[in-house]
Amino acid sequence: MARCLFFALLSAAVVCTGAYMFGTCPAQDSPRVSDLPALDKDGRNFAFADDSDFEKMKTPKPGDWLDAYDEPGQSFSQYSNSNPNKPDKKHTTIYLQPIGLFTDEEKELLSKLEEFTKIFFQMPVVLKTAVALPDAEEYKRTRTSGNKKWVQYRTDFFLEKVLQPALPDDAFCYLGITMKDLYPDDEWNYVFGQASLKERVGVYSLARYFPEFWGQKDTDESRILSLRRSCETLVHETGHMFNMLHCIYYECVMAGSNSMDEADRRPLHECPVCLRKLQWNTGFDANKRYEQLEKFCRDNKLDKEADWMKKRMEKIKSAVK
Ligand SMILES: [Zn+2]
Ligand SMILES: [Zn+2]
Repeated sequence: MARCLFFALLSAAVVCTGAYMFGTCPAQDSPRVSDLPALDKDGRNFAFADDSDFEKMKTPKPGDWLDAYDEPGQSFSQYSNSNPNKPDKKHTTIYLQPIGLFTDEEKELLSKLEEFTKIFFQMPVVLKTAVALPDAEEYKRTRTSGNKKWVQYRTDFFLEKVLQPALPDDAFCYLGITMKDLYPDDEWNYVFGQASLKERVGVYSLARYFPEFWGQKDTDESRILSLRRSCETLVHETGHMFNMLHCIYYECVMAGSNSMDEADRRPLHECPVCLRKLQWNTGFDANKRYEQLEKFCRDNKLDKEADWMKKRMEKIKSAVK
């Protein structure tokens, strides 16, 4: 079942773990990276015009996202001409709203997600106090698989009953995070999340990122992987709140994934096209951001990611001198 199911339905959409379901497209075998900007004289836009540290989108394996779905891609000019959601004087802040119970370890993860989101989007992020999971018999169901039995919650319950009524006035977006497993409707086994761009709310489950869900043991390695998966999901889904569509050009955090395995193969960074979209939208300093991302990754033992950020940052610095 899709990791990233971003249903853009008539209502401006959404179910995300992510697929973009409308539109036709040539897509994966004809990447259009045409609008990487040319370098300016002093190299200031090197971060967006040089793609030497990025891997072009690989040919999808059977069952991968781009094997299953034709996607149109979205160039920078298509994005900037699409009147995307933008933070403004009134809507300044990304709110994270924990819903339900969290263990101490999971609370620590939430703080890290707050920090990562702050760095990734270079915007104010507020982690709100957890709210109780309201009783909702009509919005839940029980699943069984082998000896395992667990309760799933329907995503529209979180969006319509919990988040929309409490949307803070200054919210750019309001994102619910739960350890409960989610489903969008009875046709689906599960989803990792769903969002409504129009209402600027979304809900994401972290349940399946933890070994307990799969009956496996908690280890140092599994904790690092849980953090990586949670960070990846949160920034991918938040990227959709900026109206960024799935990337088809490079191996990129904004590319769709059809399984956990595929998501784990994606990098934690954006490609130059998606980076440019976000930078155009929020106006951050790309290298300062890489510096902070490297520190976060290094502090949290995401060494491969930290090494990439460092390499990229150093290349940009030397190009701009
Ligand atoms: Zn998505
Ligand atoms: Zn991209």
